[in-house]
Amino acid sequence: MKSWTSRPVPELPGSMPQLRLYDTALGRVVDVERQPEQSMYVCGITPYDATHMGHAASYVAFDLLNRAWRDAGIRVSYVQNVTDIDDPLLERATATGVDWRDLAQSQIDLFQTDMDALNVLAPNHYIGAVEAIPDIVPAIEQLIADGVAYRVAGSGGEPDGDVYYDVETAGKRSDATDAWTLGDVSGLGEKEMLELFAERGGDPARAGKRHALDPLLWRVARDGEPSWPGATLGDGRPGWHIECTVIAQKYLPAPFTVQGGGSDLVFPHHEMGAGHAYSLSGVPLARHYSHAGMVGLDGEKMSKSKGNLVLVSKLRAAGEEPAAIRLAILAHHYRSDWSWTEAEFAEAKHRLSQWRAALDHAPAGSAAALISAMRDELANDLNAPGAIAAVDSWAEEAIRTGADKSAQDTALVTDAIDALLGVEL
Ligand code: ZN
Repeated sequence: MKSWTSRPVPELPGSMPQLRLYDTALGRVVDVERQPEQSMYVCGITPYDATHMGHAASYVAFDLLNRAWRDAGIRVSYVQNVTDIDDPLLERATATGVDWRDLAQSQIDLFQTDMDALNVLAPNHYIGAVEAIPDIVPAIEQLIADGVAYRVAGSGGEPDGDVYYDVETAGKRSDATDAWTLGDVSGLGEKEMLELFAERGGDPARAGKRHALDPLLWRVARDGEPSWPGATLGDGRPGWHIECTVIAQKYLPAPFTVQGGGSDLVFPHHEMGAGHAYSLSGVPLARHYSHAGMVGLDGEKMSKSKGNLVLVSKLRAAGEEPAAIRLAILAHHYRSDWSWTEAEFAEAKHRLSQWRAALDHAPAGSAAALISAMRDELANDLNAPGAIAAVDSWAEEAIRTGADKSAQDTALVTDAIDALLGVEL
């Protein structure tokens, strides 16, 4: 599938120091091993609704990582999927009387326009679940052949043949220290897992499963639902976790460097994806798991059902500047849960105008220290609020001293804020 187009990233003198990142699976901040090429997979949207602030914050978070690596002179291989077939998409299409394909395409277009506006660098590969089905089918067949997946008999109106992943058998398959067992990524106990599994698309009560937490790999065709050829699986469509696993394994090295997404993807999505990948290849899916916090509105959880979604496209349509939206997001550390408020958005807009005003007084020789301070903050678990504070101090000083503008420093500071924070002045 076609991705959006990245805007050029200015090159800065010097480079980012050793990057440290919080690893969810390890529960602490770790050094990200230096390699000439880093690789990242960030889970994409299910295109049934417009990009809300939570999505935007998550993609902006991993855009910081992408930019930090590039600033360190490292090539980045970045893959993102789009779940262009899934239950919520079909449900919304039915509820609104729109063809599911038209709904998906319209929301993918809107998402890409939002990402472009927010200056989020595009992935190298943007892959739809539907186009990945020919790769997903043989992977599921392999899991069945290896005894870590099984077919469930039909009952209670469900047809025969849905395929599930056997979490217990898979977890006992290998004694290797890097082998996956349930809980390795999320660190959760079974009770918490069961709650989250039910909340986030799992079907713990499905009759015939070996374990309540076994996730769906293949849903055989039902009347009125789209389906694709599944070879020995029969016609149907894939489960969500295997979709990301197979796409990541096809387009990235094994293991790749960072699996990213919102913190609501830790379980079951990233947990199960890690299991699928290990069962398929005997190699971990990713070296590190990294998660962005959730965004609410005025202290409440943002959700469609509450009708309190803050949409990037709506803000843009109201004439708000994308750079200000991005700056409002970056004022919060990517791992924190936070709330979008009008007051903080106003603060971000004010900050943007202060920074612009300061460029008219950039003191000669001031850019180098600022760039170094921004890099130190970002290398420390992508501390954007720290980097913003460094620019604030620089801007206050520039305005206070009212120094004559140094064209060279103005250009360097403009480039640094663009290259490292993705904010265009
Ligand atoms: Zn995913």
